[in-house]
Order: sequence, then structure tokens, then C-alpha cells
Amino acid sequence: MNILACARWARLLPAILALAIGTISIRAADNTIALKAKRIFDGKSKSLVPNGVVIVQGDRIVDVGSNLAVAVPGDAQVIDLGDATLAPGFMDAHTHLTLDYSGDYNVRRLKEVDLNVSEQAIIATVHARATVEAGFTTVRDLGSRFVGSREFVDVALRNSINKGVVVGPRMLVATKGIGATGGHFDPTSGFRDFLFGREPDYTDGIIDSPDDARKAVRFEVKNGADVIKAAVSGGVLSLADEVDTPQLTPAEMAALVDESHRLRKKVAVHCHGDEVAREAIEAGVDSIEHGSFMKPETLTRMKNKGVFLTPTLMATEWIMSKLENYPPALQAKAKAAAAARSDMFRNAVKLGVKISFGTDAAVFPHGQNAREFKVMVDLGMQPIEALRSATANDAELLGIAQKTGTLEKGKLADVIAMPGDPITDITATERVFFVMKEGKIIRNGPPTVHAAAKETDPTNVAAPVD
Ligand SMILES: [Zn+2]
Repeated sequence: MNILACARWARLLPAILALAIGTISIRAADNTIALKAKRIFDGKSKSLVPNGVVIVQGDRIVDVGSNLAVAVPGDAQVIDLGDATLAPGFMDAHTHLTLDYSGDYNVRRLKEVDLNVSEQAIIATVHARATVEAGFTTVRDLGSRFVGSREFVDVALRNSINKGVVVGPRMLVATKGIGATGGHFDPTSGFRDFLFGREPDYTDGIIDSPDDARKAVRFEVKNGADVIKAAVSGGVLSLADEVDTPQLTPAEMAALVDESHRLRKKVAVHCHGDEVAREAIEAGVDSIEHGSFMKPETLTRMKNKGVFLTPTLMATEWIMSKLENYPPALQAKAKAAAAARSDMFRNAVKLGVKISFGTDAAVFPHGQNAREFKVMVDLGMQPIEALRSATANDAELLGIAQKTGTLEKGKLADVIAMPGDPITDITATERVFFVMKEGKIIRNGPPTVHAAAKETDPTNVAAPVD
């Protein structure tokens, strides 16, 4: 080939390459997979459908239903999962993927000031993988803070997952939880005064006026928050407050909710106390997290206003099963919350309050999120309703129901499979063995992360948020 011809080819090469790559990506997008199992839960029906089929093309579901109604294209790759139940990817509306305080409280607290935040961010990638491999393809991550640091590790983790750098669930992140000086979210509470050189401010999520509340919301949205989290009452795992005292005023809550909604962000509030829950409902919050001491009248107000309850029952289960890991003052708070929350949850179910599945993963080891289902069912929730809470309900609360949350034509292909029938044995949800997220198979068989093995690892540290 002469030099001229060579040059012509060299000029054409980028176009040829682009064409080739284009063809490859179109082929990949057109790749059709047919998932089959003995039954299917679609996220909205009142019962399971026998002999389920989900047809996936690229990142979308193109058809779904019983094998009598759905035709499997001749060129589809068929994956028959046998005596299992297909379901939409589970969602957890309350996690802290960047944190882990499931071990000894004081060991964790000491390590919290020792360990580099970058190292903690790397550990968080393992939490993300454990969560998605457990079948949770979406999480609302409600707070990420490291004492003495202004890093937005949750934003970085979300972005890395979206770019395919890290394997994990789709994340909606809250950045710093917003709360009062000395309150549940004050990262310096319980430490010597001015140990960190200054009092925290709105850049740490700490506010003391309605104007501060607006400023904190704006600051968080500017830095990547998808959702706003605030602590309106005290909490269990914080050293300088009572578990149920009000920590934001009605005026602060009104400003916070107004500013969040103006910026099209929903508001989730950490709240154990009954009185302040009513004020939060009045202020227009979208969900109440925990809600341990809420009375039937408060729950009725929630139902009437369509406010979701995210019960996080697993957090209490875990703390109560490991009480020796916590200082006496926190043990007393945990016992009080645990004594109240079972009746509260039964009442919420009875009254028909909208319940969003959320666990507070980080209080217990990441990847064990599905244990929440059994606690819900043991406290009177129908198994099918528990499954709906983790799919369609969470999708509604998170504002992503048009994209995911149910198995329907046109939705993102987030599909999982668990052995047997979760209606007859809800613990099947703890044995998810197949996970597809946006059409990509993340797991088909044993997990790569063994979440349970990590629960006493003292290097897993972070500031308390609950
Ligand atoms: Zn939490």
C-alpha cells in the first residue's frame, strides 16, 4: 500500500472503529435474556403468579408474566432458576453504606478518630457489594459523616457505582444528616469540648435556626444530596441526648421541608418521640424513620397525610441482641425504644399507614438487610405486604416508581430470585441467589462477600447516626 492509500485508511480508521464499537454496543443492548422460575412476585399483585418469565433486553424488561402469556424469543438466552421466586430487586429506604458500627461501641468510637477517611471510603465499597449481592438493588442512604471531616463519601460511592467503577446498589444519598447542636447528629457530642477545634456548623449539617436549616439544605444539595435527612428527636446511639426529646423546632422543620421541597428533594426524618413526630408530620415530611414511641393518634395523622413509616426494626433487634457492646446509657435508651416499637409497628399495620422497607444497615452488618422481613411478619404484617414494602412502596417513597420497583414492561431490569416461596417462608428473602441490576447479572450462585464474617471487625468504624 502506498503512502497516500495509507493516509486515506488512517483518516477512515476512527470512523471504522466508531462503527464497529457502535455495532458491538447495539448487539449488547439487543442481547435478550429470558429468566424463568416456578413463581413470580411482580411487586404489585396480591399474590404470586405461577411459572414466571421475565424477558430482558439490554437494561430493560420487555415482557413479564406467566409462561402461558409470555412468548420467549427464539434467540433469547434462557436462565431457568427452577423452584424459586423471581421478584423486583429489593430496596432498602434506610441504610448507611459508608458506615459500620455493628461492633463494640467504644472500640468503634476510638477508631473513628484514628482511621483515615479515605480508608473508610474503601471499606464502604465492600458494604455496597454485600448489599447488592443480598438482592438490594436500590438503597436510600440516609447519612454519612466522619467526625472532623467534610468528605462526602456517600456521594463519591454513589457516583462510582453509577460509573461502573464499584459494584453496588443504585444509591439515593442524603450526605450529612441535619440536626441541632448537641443533638443526635452532632458529630462532636460526647467528646471533650472543642476537641475538634470548632463547633460544627451548617457545613456539618448542624443548625440552630430556620435560616440555618435552609442554608444546610442548599449546601447539601449543592454537594450532591438526592434526599434530605434530619434528626428531629434524640436517638439511641448518641451520647449527649435523650432518645425521644424534640431537637428541631416546628419553625426549623417548616423551613427545612419548604426548602427541600422547593429543590424537589424529599425529607426523611429520624424520629423516636411521639410529640415531635406530630410536629414533623405537620411540617410536611415525607417519611418518619424509626418512630418507636408514636401513638395511634399520631399514626392516624400519618396515614391521613400519606406520610411513610420506615420502621428499621432490624436496628433494634441487633442492638438488643448485643447489648454488652454498648455503654449503659445507650443500653437504657435501646431498651426503652425496643419496648415501645413493637406495639407501634402493629398499630401502624392495623391502621394502614404506608410502610416503606428500611433497616438502618450499619447498625448491623451490611448485607443482612433481608432479616427485616421476618421481623415485620412476626409483628403482624402479611408476607406479601412485606415484599411490597421493599419494592413498590419504597419506589414510591424514593420517587423512582416510573423506573423501577415492579416487574413491568419498560422498567429497568432489576430482578432477583430467592429459593422456594417467600409467602410460606419469608426467610427465603435472606437466601437470594440471583441478582440482576439494569440487565447485568451481578450474582448467580454464591456471594463474593460474606457479610456475617465482618460483624466484629474493629476497623469498621464511623460516627453514630442512629
Ligand atoms: Zn440511620
